[in-house]
Amino acid sequence: MKIAMLLLFLLTLFNAQANSCPEGTYSIQNHPRQAYYKNDGTHVSSTTVSSYCRHYRDDGLLKEQFLLEKPKKWPHPKEKFKECLKEKQKIVSKILKSIPKILTNIGKLEIYCAQKSEVSNNPATCAPEKKIIVLYDSSFNMNTKKIIIHELAHLLWSRLSDKEKQSYFDVSKWRKFDNIYIYNRASFSAPDGKNGPEEDFANNIEYYFTKPINFKRGFPQIDSWIKKILGDNK
Ligand SMILES: [Zn+2]
Repeated sequence: MKIAMLLLFLLTLFNAQANSCPEGTYSIQNHPRQAYYKNDGTHVSSTTVSSYCRHYRDDGLLKEQFLLEKPKKWPHPKEKFKECLKEKQKIVSKILKSIPKILTNIGKLEIYCAQKSEVSNNPATCAPEKKIIVLYDSSFNMNTKKIIIHELAHLLWSRLSDKEKQSYFDVSKWRKFDNIYIYNRASFSAPDGKNGPEEDFANNIEYYFTKPINFKRGFPQIDSWIKKILGDNK
């Protein structure tokens, strides 16, 4: 499944990768924070939050929000966003509850519904750095859980440390030459995994959870690597 990455988010990702963080953490770049009131009424002034490394397995319980309007600076102007109807919200929330916490313990997740992707045959997309998932109408006519796991895997990828990514490149036989990733593998869990290590990772996580026996048989080393990185994936 293809991912429509926003240029802005690519830039953020590039910056995040440029600023290495220890294993198990990912970089949050400095960013402005607006003034707000805490629950107890205390006023907190606006400020610039300095960059720091955040533990990616410690973002807190999932709080999904269904939003109406198109995300800011969305790069596909022709896509029509619409309300996620209550019925769809229920389906998505139920699915999220059934997915291992390693993928869902990410704090706030923004979910949008839209008619159709500008990219052909694409049922969903995400902006990993912003923790945004967009579900197109077609995602509800197929295995929605599989699609959501795939998008959450993209979010997990953006939150792996450089060392963890490198260990994934090693086990899944990706090499980097002049900023281009080249694979040295005969088969992939889905054909578009050949497009790059992140898509390959998202496909593999998706198949690890949805077709575990086949996946383990076809990709035993990647299967072991995923088991290790997910840890206690309940
Ligand atoms: Zn994808």
